[in-house]
Amino acid sequence: MRTADILIVGGGVIGCSIAYHLLRRDRSLRVVLLEKEEMVGMGSTARATGGIRHQFSSPANIRLTQLSLPFYMQFEEETGYSVHFRPHGYLFLTTHAQVLEEFRRNVDLQNSLGVPSRIVTPAEAAKLVPGLRAEDLVGGSFCDRDGTAEPAAAVQGFATRAQSWGLEILTQQQVVALLREGDRIVGARTQKETFQAPVVVIAAGAHSSQITATAGLEIPVHAYRRQVSVVAPIPELDVEIPLTVDMDTGFYIHRMGHSGLLLGGTDKDSRPGFSLDVDWEGLDRLLAAGCWRIPLLEKAKVVRTYVGLRALTPDHHPILGRVEALEGLVLACGDSGHGFMHAPAIGLLVSEEILDGRAKTMDLSPFRLERFGLGVQEEAQVF
Ligand SMILES: Cc1cc2nc3c(=O)[nH]c(=O)nc-3n(C[C@H](O)[C@H](O)[C@H](O)COP(=O)(O)OP(=O)(O)OC[C@H]3O[C@@H](n4cnc5c(N)ncnc54)[C@H](O)[C@@H]3O)c2cc1C
Repeated sequence: MRTADILIVGGGVIGCSIAYHLLRRDRSLRVVLLEKEEMVGMGSTARATGGIRHQFSSPANIRLTQLSLPFYMQFEEETGYSVHFRPHGYLFLTTHAQVLEEFRRNVDLQNSLGVPSRIVTPAEAAKLVPGLRAEDLVGGSFCDRDGTAEPAAAVQGFATRAQSWGLEILTQQQVVALLREGDRIVGARTQKETFQAPVVVIAAGAHSSQITATAGLEIPVHAYRRQVSVVAPIPELDVEIPLTVDMDTGFYIHRMGHSGLLLGGTDKDSRPGFSLDVDWEGLDRLLAAGCWRIPLLEKAKVVRTYVGLRALTPDHHPILGRVEALEGLVLACGDSGHGFMHAPAIGLLVSEEILDGRAKTMDLSPFRLERFGLGVQEEAQVF
């Protein structure tokens, strides 16, 4: 039996951020991270677009971005790796007056929290995205502080710096069961060995609920597939454009530097599941939605299409913190498709929860497992 002070299950951007923040505070901690794959960062994090946005409808999600983005801006000084943040903005579009009203309410909330987002007219939107079909739009919202960065660099930075402070990363160690003694979690068992620890953190992304189930704990974290396609550069669109989302269809376009365009997001009504198979009809729907909004995409040459999993909760907020019913268990999962952008904040808050007894930088009430059923606010600006 091996021992640790803190055991982290899952080596995606969130598990690595938590390890980093714990050891940043206290280098004497024995932190062990268990990852089932051959290396860290191969789960959903490897498939994330890298988007970072402030344009949410809930104050809690906005605050997570406000805590995270400054950290990513300083990432190179902190870790030696740059995440190459590009502040090209996010542009949300709609043809429905009612949805525009929701954008207005969200922008008012964002402005009240210091986020410089604004409502744009169809003509302004057309200036931001070459070739945009704007005649059917009623408007949109835009924030030039939103942008994208590189998830792989974030994992490398967090993991490498934490390892230099003593983090032990054990790969090919799939946790098959949590160890439970009465109302306490006291460790975890992998297919190879057993680990004992007074604190076990679940940061296993879309697989988190499978792991807590081994201790009899149901958590509402469900895996939903997201399919995206990379298309070769199109000269007219080879300029910096906002990450643009058509909220009516869910279609989004993200320019990946000069290397091409990433299209995705028309799959928001798909059922939960773990299949990573490509849905070819889904690709047709995606291209149809894309070509309607940006007719230049008729020229798109699809280079590859892939699927990743997003760990969604019913209110689109993550589940963070200790669990009342099970001492020793800490949750850091269910990030609802925002886990890359919120990883610095989640790492900080979860490290405070463990080291100080309670998170101090931000109240975790909107994120605790026990919130479900208490009527907390849902995040509505999702695609
Ligand atoms: C196509 C796509 C686009 C996205 N775009 C964005 C975006 O623009 N911005 C954004 O913020 N987010 C985005 N996301 C979401 C983002 O990828 C996730 O929120 C984030 O990667 C979650 O990080 P994580 O560490 O929780 O999960 P993961 O990266 O999945 O890490 C969990 C780790 O746990 C490991 N694991 C699982 N089970 C076990 C076990 N039993 N034992 C040991 N290890 C285990 C896995 O192998 C994995 O490495 C996107 C996701 C997809 C699929």
